[in-house]
Amino acid sequence: MDVLVIGGGPAGMMAALTAAQGGARVTLLERNEKLGKKLYITGKGRCNLTNACDSEELVRSTVRNGRFLYSAYAAFDNRAVMEMIEGLGVPLKVERGNRVFPQSEHASDITRALTRALERAGVAVRLRARVAEVLAEQGAVRGVRLSDGQVLEADAVILTTGGMSYPVTGSDGDGHRMAAAQGVALTPCTPSLTPVETAQDWPKRLQGLSLKNVRLTLLKKGKKRYSEIGEMLFTHFGVSGPLVLTASTFLSGEDLGLYTLQVDMKPGLDAQKLDERIYRDLEEAPNRQWGNILPALLPQRMVGEVLALCGIAPDTLCHQVTREQRRALGERIKALEMTPAALRGWEEAIITRGGVRCGEVDPKTMAAKAVKGLFFAGELLDVDAVTGGFNLQIAFSTGYTAGKSAAEAL
Ligand SMILES: Cc1cc2nc3c(=O)[nH]c(=O)nc-3n(C[C@H](O)[C@H](O)[C@H](O)COP(=O)(O)OP(=O)(O)OC[C@H]3O[C@@H](n4cnc5c(N)ncnc54)[C@H](O)[C@@H]3O)c2cc1C
Repeated sequence: MDVLVIGGGPAGMMAALTAAQGGARVTLLERNEKLGKKLYITGKGRCNLTNACDSEELVRSTVRNGRFLYSAYAAFDNRAVMEMIEGLGVPLKVERGNRVFPQSEHASDITRALTRALERAGVAVRLRARVAEVLAEQGAVRGVRLSDGQVLEADAVILTTGGMSYPVTGSDGDGHRMAAAQGVALTPCTPSLTPVETAQDWPKRLQGLSLKNVRLTLLKKGKKRYSEIGEMLFTHFGVSGPLVLTASTFLSGEDLGLYTLQVDMKPGLDAQKLDERIYRDLEEAPNRQWGNILPALLPQRMVGEVLALCGIAPDTLCHQVTREQRRALGERIKALEMTPAALRGWEEAIITRGGVRCGEVDPKTMAAKAVKGLFFAGELLDVDAVTGGFNLQIAFSTGYTAGKSAAEAL
């Protein structure tokens, strides 16, 4: 009995492997010249493959339709992913925020390990094979047609073609079109986990500067929507980096003018402690220019920008600084404000929001409700999560479930 898996990303590799281990004859079709092209660039090439959090956080970190994933997570959770990957000979390590990476820091090790496992399980991998159409008759799958016209017959088809972001990696919406052609309903797709353009120019002048251990807070009409400590980056259009990408998930489809991004440069010091620290620094160097001593407190490149935002001349001598000026600087360091002007597009989005509507899919099996023998897994589904390894976990959990149930259904 034959299973065809369409798309050789993490979801497809996992689905193919699990279906083969379940006794099915499996062919994995990938349009690119190699498997896992997107996987290769995950985590800046280091692959943050999952998160070593507890099961509740796994669901909580899934921004869209987390409850749809209960069964898939129960069947194959983050512990199962770690155990499996280590079992395939790739030792892992856990970093800040429970992010899990291969010890080697090479995403390619994950793809290589999975490719070897596919070989051992007897999965036939066909590269440069782009699927154009899923073929079905009387409500049941019968195979696929490739873009060169060739027809491949099958009893089950698992669609794992990914989302639409970073289209150079091969995922550009083919699977969405194929699902829609089978009458499967989709929710609209938008780029998510995107860098953010800012209305202000000062962040753009700081292009290339990255900040560690700062707190980023997203406010909607002054009310806190997101707040976390971590890393962010200034770019030629505004801001990016893990904190900003996660904050952006709250912004998709919203009126950006209602939002403010606020950076606390010194989350470890409360306002009082920070003021005492600034006061001490001023007392220790009464005759120096304020701008010259501030690099002890702020990254050098930020000093001029932050003083300008406070309306303070950098050549003000320390003994001339007024209490109001000192307080104004302290307040600014605790709350540097930016207004989001736009989200970056598909080329830079880490994931896709939207896709195959969860109501169309049985969460226990990942099977389409309307077409017998059709299964979905990975980013093609309308599920998405924050950064931290959660999106790859979704691909692995749903891929496992789809592969297992496709083999069982046969
Ligand atoms: C820059 C970047 C960094 C990221 N870092 C992380 C991270 O560190 N941790 C994390 O959890 N997530 C990360 N993500 C998200 C994560 O990579 C995706 O969520 C995940 O790859 C989705 O897996 P998938 O198998 O569903 O889809 P994909 O990985 O997109 O794989 C889909 C595959 O299907 C193939 N395909 C498409 N159409 C066809 C067709 N018609 N015929 C045949 N094959 C087809 C594609 O070529 C592709 O290989 C990152 C994403 C990006 C862009």
